[in-house]
Amino acid sequence: MASGWLGLLRPWKPGPGCWGLPTRCCSSSRLGERPRPYWKSLRRKVLQPPSPPYSKVCQVGDPVLRSAAAAVEPWRVTGAEVQALIRKLVRVMRKEDCVGLSAPQLGVPLQVFVAEFTKRQWQDNAPGLREAKQMAPFPLRVFVNPTMRVVESRLVTFPEGCMSICGFSACVPRYQAVHILGLNEAGEVTSWQASGWAARIVQHEMDHLQGIMYIDKMESRTFVNRLWEEVND
Ligand SMILES: [Zn+2]
Repeated sequence: MASGWLGLLRPWKPGPGCWGLPTRCCSSSRLGERPRPYWKSLRRKVLQPPSPPYSKVCQVGDPVLRSAAAAVEPWRVTGAEVQALIRKLVRVMRKEDCVGLSAPQLGVPLQVFVAEFTKRQWQDNAPGLREAKQMAPFPLRVFVNPTMRVVESRLVTFPEGCMSICGFSACVPRYQAVHILGLNEAGEVTSWQASGWAARIVQHEMDHLQGIMYIDKMESRTFVNRLWEEVND
């Protein structure tokens, strides 16, 4: 693992399934197993393996998604490593066209997340859905060491997905409104009272910092592969 702040964290070792060597969880099925492409094996022999923060989003099964993230020492927020982490989070979030991304999802077990809901993303939803889900665009928000308080405990249930469980979604109950307090990218104290869709995003990302994923809270019978209809086509 790299030096700097990453070296301060307790080390974790990837499990047997993390680096393209599939581990079957069910002996009766080989579904999803693919041989590792030759060029990838060759690249691994020649080059160093990629190191966090990755340019791709870690997928469920990666232990980093199941560990509680560590707090960032406040004086490090404006340092080169954390600033590079924040830039990477924003870049990957925008590249993947998602609305939130946490540091563990790029392989870094630190309490950092970014969120953004652009006007274009808002417009991509039908007006009826926007109203039902209480969607409103919001600018880029960066939170380091955030703490969250529930402002309105009424539960609202809608489908949500996660870039770390690519291709699936499920209905998840979330609190209607929350208040979040943390540091921004400049290391300054910042807070945000979020409701509706924004509150859902905040709760989803806060869960990632605790090693919790939406599949832990979902209504399990609503879990779907988003392409299930195409498969039958
Ligand atoms: Zn997620």
